Amino acid sequence: MIDLHLHTTASDGRLSPSSLVARAAAAGLTVVSVTDHDTTAGLEEAGRAAGASGIRLVSGIEITAVEAGQDVHVLGYFFDPADPRLSDFLRVQRADRVRRVHEIAERLRAMGCAIDTQPLIAQGSGAGASVGRPHVADALVTAGHAADRADAFDRLIGRGRPAFVPRKGASTAEVVSVIRVAGGIASLAHPGLTQRDDLLRSLAASGLAALEARHSDHDAVTETRYRDLAAQYGLAVSGGSDFHGDNSHHAAGLGTITLPAEDFAALQERVA
Ligand code: AMP
Ligand code: ZN
Ligand code: FE
Ligand code: FE
Repeated sequence: MIDLHLHTTASDGRLSPSSLVARAAAAGLTVVSVTDHDTTAGLEEAGRAAGASGIRLVSGIEITAVEAGQDVHVLGYFFDPADPRLSDFLRVQRADRVRRVHEIAERLRAMGCAIDTQPLIAQGSGAGASVGRPHVADALVTAGHAADRADAFDRLIGRGRPAFVPRKGASTAEVVSVIRVAGGIASLAHPGLTQRDDLLRSLAASGLAALEARHSDHDAVTETRYRDLAAQYGLAVSGGSDFHGDNSHHAAGLGTITLPAEDFAALQERVA
């Protein structure tokens, strides 16, 4: 069983890379990819744990691109995590995450929802890990301003809510290019959530390799729709649970949303 979309404490997941991999192996997964937001910091520990559990780890990442103020998540696979051009790019991405967290915290403070930014800055500046709105949400819960992460997003920090601050950064095509420069392939994450099908034609021409048709937040109709669009644009299909921990916003448990082996084989063939 294959799951190519998993998060750890290197970004906004609840489990450490080694705990996640051990849980994945126990759930029956045999090929996994750790795809933390804008960081590869969890891959080394995850790789050691995968070796110990006898399962395969594919190098992975989920990079946030920006299109007209909207976030577009791009998954990267099979790249060299040590590629210096990728590392430099990701350092800039993470610095913008820290900037954004400061701005969000300032808005929250002005609204009477002050949070302790110390743990956020520690997360965003330590050992290559990345910080994001889920950490802000946790701080809001700790400070008593929100019931849980979902409540914080729904009322305060989600897109269109009062403390929302847009990201700045590279376009989707630029992100695809960085992943390819590092020897990897790019897949458009959860296209059914992002709803930017207007970009598909030009992204396919810019070297996008796949669409994440299979995802915990895609129903059967949505999966079929993106399988058909992938075929239409000559793209492969990727997939995974987007697991962030138990009782997290993507509700699928480990081992419940998996990528068929024939899709994985076709995806692997795209690697140069
Ligand atoms: P950021 O990377 O800072 O833009 O934060 C986006 C992250 O927040 C993504 O990993 C999403 O999976 C997560 N997220 C988005 N909406 C929610 C929600 N309603 N509850 C919890 N996490 C969310
Ligand atoms: Zn996340
Ligand atoms: Fe995502
Ligand atoms: Fe994700």
